Amino acid sequence: MKILDIIAKKRDKKYLSKEEIDFFIKGYTNNEITDYQAAALIMAIFINGMTDEELYYLTFSMANSGEILDLSEFGENVVDKHSTGGVGDKVSIVLLPIIASFGIPVAKMSGRGLGFTGGTVDKLESIPGYNTGISIDEFKQNVHKIGISMIGQTLNLAPADKKIYSLRDTISCVDDISLIASSIMSKKIAAGANKIVLEVTYGKGAFMKNIDDAKILANKMETLGKYAKLDVESVFTPMDEPLGYAVGNTLEIIEAINFLKNISFPEDLKEVVLEIGSRMIKLAGKGDDLENIKNEMIKKIETGEAYNKFKEMVQTQGGDTTYLDDVDKFEKAKYIIDIKSEKSGKINDINAESIGKLACFLGAGRIKKEDKIDMPVGIIIHKKVGENVNKEDVIATLHINDSSKKEEAIKTIKEIIKIN
Ligand code: URA
Repeated sequence: MKILDIIAKKRDKKYLSKEEIDFFIKGYTNNEITDYQAAALIMAIFINGMTDEELYYLTFSMANSGEILDLSEFGENVVDKHSTGGVGDKVSIVLLPIIASFGIPVAKMSGRGLGFTGGTVDKLESIPGYNTGISIDEFKQNVHKIGISMIGQTLNLAPADKKIYSLRDTISCVDDISLIASSIMSKKIAAGANKIVLEVTYGKGAFMKNIDDAKILANKMETLGKYAKLDVESVFTPMDEPLGYAVGNTLEIIEAINFLKNISFPEDLKEVVLEIGSRMIKLAGKGDDLENIKNEMIKKIETGEAYNKFKEMVQTQGGDTTYLDDVDKFEKAKYIIDIKSEKSGKINDINAESIGKLACFLGAGRIKKEDKIDMPVGIIIHKKVGENVNKEDVIATLHINDSSKKEEAIKTIKEIIKIN
């Protein structure tokens, strides 16, 4: 078998067999197939699509490219969540410590930023010392010891997805329903939970621009879940404007910490956290009525149990918890610039994708897969769509490290926040 023949087949709109897909996944994982050959094949898949059979083979081949975690030692119902990505999406960071505070084991493997969307792992790494790359043994030990661990995709879990995911990011091949479904479900199959809530985002700041595509994606993922004997439920989250107010790694971690400390919660973020969380807790067999569960979740924040769980996790994974107690300790960007409204009126649009791209331009995301994230940079939005503003009100604050980017960033943010 030759990779050139496989690329040519997909280029010519033919179907790939299980053997051909396995050959590609094995070869790319072992570095026998180059990045440019993989890029050509992924682009051909992006343009010409995959049949349901090809999607099934690709997903299981990626899932089997490394270790399949066995989490059955944590009980019959091991729950997990996954988001299809968003801007300002710090849901996992707030939600999972709440889940763990119910005594439900949380063994979570998250991703890095992709395209204009952020990633939980990058956000967690903005906490000095926090190690997202611990071994699987240590990961499991932490879950036994304190009930929660959040790590990155270690080399052993779905390594093929890890490579393909970052490659797609650099060749404009992210927003494809089948590629997203296979990427997410290969990780979920490998990650060992058997009850999963999928947050399928849609709108301007999501890969799916409308609810219909979000439903097709959810359906593909639920079908793949069934083949893998997983219980999968989907929740649909609108993502026209960013979730919460903060976009950028350190800024989002601070927003999540303030949420867990019960200092402030953006209403939209709170709603998503409660919606996904209540379903996870129900799937874990710890309650039936979603509204009651939501009230109990709020109590876990009010009593400090959720924050303490988060702190315990950060400490166990080497993070410096003094940053959690005093968020002013986090390194700040060199230039913090308030943007004022030039007129009075109502906010009628804050395009989340444009905000995500602006955050990337400032250094909060990756343009090339080797790019290093600039943790403190990003944007704080002060108003939500539908709110009134007066002339001279501060509507956003830019956090910038590279002075050459100031002028363009100021111009761009004024164009993104539309007031009429
Ligand atoms: N999240 C993933 O894990 N994979 C994708 O392809 C997109 C979002």
